[in-house]
Amino acid sequence: GTTDNPPKEHQIVVCVRKRPLRRKELADGELDVVSIPSKDMLVVHEPRKHVNLSKFLENHSFRFDYVFNEDCSNGTVYEYTARPLIRHIFEGGMATCFAYGQTGSGKTHTMGGQFTGRQQSSMDGIYAMAAGDIFTTLKSPSYDKLQLKVSCSFFEIYGSRVYDLLMPGKPQLRVLEDGNQQVQVVGLTENPVNSTGEVLALLELGNSVRTSGQTSANAKSSRSHAVFQISLRSSANRRLHGKFSLIDLAGNERGADNSSADRVTRLEGSEINKSLLVLKECIRALGRQSGHLPFRGSKLTQVLRDSFIGGKKVKTCMIAMISPGLHSVENTLNTLRYADRVKEL
Ligand code: ADP
Ligand code: MG
Repeated sequence: GTTDNPPKEHQIVVCVRKRPLRRKELADGELDVVSIPSKDMLVVHEPRKHVNLSKFLENHSFRFDYVFNEDCSNGTVYEYTARPLIRHIFEGGMATCFAYGQTGSGKTHTMGGQFTGRQQSSMDGIYAMAAGDIFTTLKSPSYDKLQLKVSCSFFEIYGSRVYDLLMPGKPQLRVLEDGNQQVQVVGLTENPVNSTGEVLALLELGNSVRTSGQTSANAKSSRSHAVFQISLRSSANRRLHGKFSLIDLAGNERGADNSSADRVTRLEGSEINKSLLVLKECIRALGRQSGHLPFRGSKLTQVLRDSFIGGKKVKTCMIAMISPGLHSVENTLNTLRYADRVKEL
């Protein structure tokens, strides 16, 4: 790993993870245009042309809470992102961890949402590591008296539609907001769990449901947001209700070639863009502890409303994933600029 400084406990942590070039990219001679000179810094070397057509590199530097290079494991990323939030949910707080970036940048790899038909596939992702730590913490004597119960939900947001991933047939769910602005996903499965193994089984089910019946799994799932939630409730203290939301966001790539994309793809793209813009505003409002919270602006932020209100009781972490290749440089810069804007002010 790249980091040996202790994890931060800020309300908003923003980091970047660079994946390695894939075998295919290496074979094609793809250039790596991202360098990571230190644990919190990253430089993108963008090839440009002068007016006289001579070539040069334009260097774009960014600073984040952490920057993980291509040698970092999921375990290291977990340790500095989601893990510091575990204690927070045991104190009844709301924690959120977002995986953001273009399709193919490593969001699902990091979160552990890949489906291969083997349980091992999800085992070393952030979903599973968070679940593992929650069960370990639960067993410590200090939490005995609270009689905590753990449950999981897993759903997908596609456009403005919400689908339950823990229900065979993937039924569409309604989202309702009551007079007290409490948002409810009506009928969402909340599965009680007693071990990491049980969580892994639910992940496998959800991941298979998410990608079922489609020709290219990654192509389709990259157009939806996947939300995995772990809730903690105490039988001894009714007010204690912690929740960890782990979110594999839809690919943020712009439909660069608008003319060739079909109408559905373009519509999908603009809905995804809108939800990601609203998400950015909601996280920024959280950092400022004031101002208008535009959570109704998208289904994603609406169902995550709890994660944006509540002052000190909410903590957020964003992992911006980037592909290192020259061919992704535009998407990479967009991702980094977005993450830069999310950073605490
Ligand atoms: P996304 O979910 O953002 O579309 P994926 O997680 O599916 O991207 O990753 C795309 C491909 O790159 C997958 O084959 C994945 O296994 C691989 N990959 C992503 N991140 C890493 C990494 N840090 N190390 C090794 N392989 C990775
Ligand atoms: Mg994915």
